[in-house]
Amino acid sequence: MSENNNTTPKSNFIREIIDEDIRTGKYGGRVHTRFPPEPNGYLHIGHAKSICLNFGIARDYNGLCNLRFDDTNPSKEDVEYVESIKEDVRWLGFDWEDREYYASDYFEQLYDYAVQLIKMGKAYVCDLSADEIREYRGTLTEPGKESPYRNRSIEENLDLFERMRKGEFPDGSKTLRAKIDMSSPNLNMRDPVMYRILRATHHRTGDKWCIYPMYDWAHGLCDSIERITHSICTLEFEDHRPLYDWFLDQLGVYHPRQIEFARLNLSYTVMSKRRLLQLVEEGIVNGWDDPRMPTISGLRRRGYTPESIRYFADRVGVAKRENMIDVALLEDSLRDDLNKRAPRAMAVLRPLKVVIINYPDDKVEEMDAINNPEDPSMGSRKVPFTKEIYIERDDFREIPPKKYYRLYPGNEVRLRYAYIIKCVDVIKDPQTGEVVEIHCTYDPETRSGESKSQKKVKATIHWVSARYAIDAEVRLYDRLFNVEDPSGENWKDHINPNSLEVLKNCKLEPCLKNVKPQDRYQFERLGYFCVDYDSTPEHIVFNRTVTLRDTWAKIEKSVQENP
Ligand code: ATP
Ligand code: MG
Repeated sequence: MSENNNTTPKSNFIREIIDEDIRTGKYGGRVHTRFPPEPNGYLHIGHAKSICLNFGIARDYNGLCNLRFDDTNPSKEDVEYVESIKEDVRWLGFDWEDREYYASDYFEQLYDYAVQLIKMGKAYVCDLSADEIREYRGTLTEPGKESPYRNRSIEENLDLFERMRKGEFPDGSKTLRAKIDMSSPNLNMRDPVMYRILRATHHRTGDKWCIYPMYDWAHGLCDSIERITHSICTLEFEDHRPLYDWFLDQLGVYHPRQIEFARLNLSYTVMSKRRLLQLVEEGIVNGWDDPRMPTISGLRRRGYTPESIRYFADRVGVAKRENMIDVALLEDSLRDDLNKRAPRAMAVLRPLKVVIINYPDDKVEEMDAINNPEDPSMGSRKVPFTKEIYIERDDFREIPPKKYYRLYPGNEVRLRYAYIIKCVDVIKDPQTGEVVEIHCTYDPETRSGESKSQKKVKATIHWVSARYAIDAEVRLYDRLFNVEDPSGENWKDHINPNSLEVLKNCKLEPCLKNVKPQDRYQFERLGYFCVDYDSTPEHIVFNRTVTLRDTWAKIEKSVQENP
């Protein structure tokens, strides 16, 4: 990656804050960030941005970045998610070394801090139900009402809180709340809940606890315990910052600085974990790593490289205002990377047989083909040429439209790395009228690289020898949604019904015989493709990673796409 390597990182408002904190010695010049996923789903491209930001800042400032699982909600969390998150962060190229932490590691400590707040008269046990709490909270325009339990004595609160922990009360019957200000203009400050009673088996602490801390209570304290310097989170937590600060100030503990940035929104997809889970559970996609998903595992399976995602995150930068990033930028970042690295090969996705009638029956010529014109060190290979070959159905028209320069009766084209051929006959199925075979002649004087003839043609097409072709399945993916912003209530109405097309009868150049999952190639003229996990030596499966150009700007795609 030439663009994002060996260059000084772009400055942004977060780095400016950090620079200033280093200058004033606020945290003794230390920089310590964390990436705090909740293990309730697979990571998506938005998380990738946060990972690149947090780990990238740590790297650039010689600091540290922790991986911390925010596992305070046992009913939705699972070890499967923990494992996938670790795999994804590692794959993106980041290392948390031995700093793998869990909010649940601190449950005992958080409990003690809560007892401390109760003793200070700053927290109380409340018997209002969840609905009542909501009702009492008031609105943006009306102040809230104080809970009738707000003035319980410290002794009573200590006793009740301990009994909450011991499991003496049913789920949802009591909460521990901070005693702040029911008329605060900031709703988060209106006596927020710190603990709730919930009997659910936790994936790490089992049944040890039946009270669980709320996010706002747990998060700042985890940051404090880990001595994080800059707690970077998304904008929706801006209104929570006064609460983050309040808890830490009341307790008088080490106080990191929370900084908010705009989350990544990407066009033509959804990013909320709840919706991604719905796509998986309702079978709209084939799992979290379906190549159409914006999850990191989906992008990986699709053929994205970690470099391309890091480059994308860099190009997007960090903003203070919500915005929508065009998915074309992500695709462009990928092309930029694969163009330099992916070897070229020829593959025919929708084969049409061509017989070269003046070519000797059993002759085989080895044609020289360049592996990557962008990188001569990748060398060249031999491609067998024979009397019968396959070309793309779309590269032949019986009746050519205007400006169609490829094969049609009487016309000549060049076969990439081989000869110029001329269409002399069209064979059709007598029943259906479908074109089943093309007959051509070749001009022996036009062999690529050693052409003795001055002949010029307007198009070059790719091909695969019929005798040596390898069969493969190729899965073509398109955007999962057909509107730019499917975020509204009726988001599922915008699912693109044609987001997956499976081609079972594709023909590959023989050099692709021994491919392994995750190998990536550029199929000439078609795009970048990646071997799928389902692929075996007997049944090769490729995913189309991305087309060569942004085909959503398509105008008569098939005609214009080719020279
Ligand atoms: P979702 O809203 O998709 O359910 P979340 O924010 O609840 O995600 P977490 O696991 O809590 O998911 O997120 C871990 C970290 O990733 C948080 O710091 C969060 O701010 C950040 N993050 C989540 N989504 C995005 C996004 N779209 N862009 C940037 N950062 C994000
Ligand atoms: Mg969250």
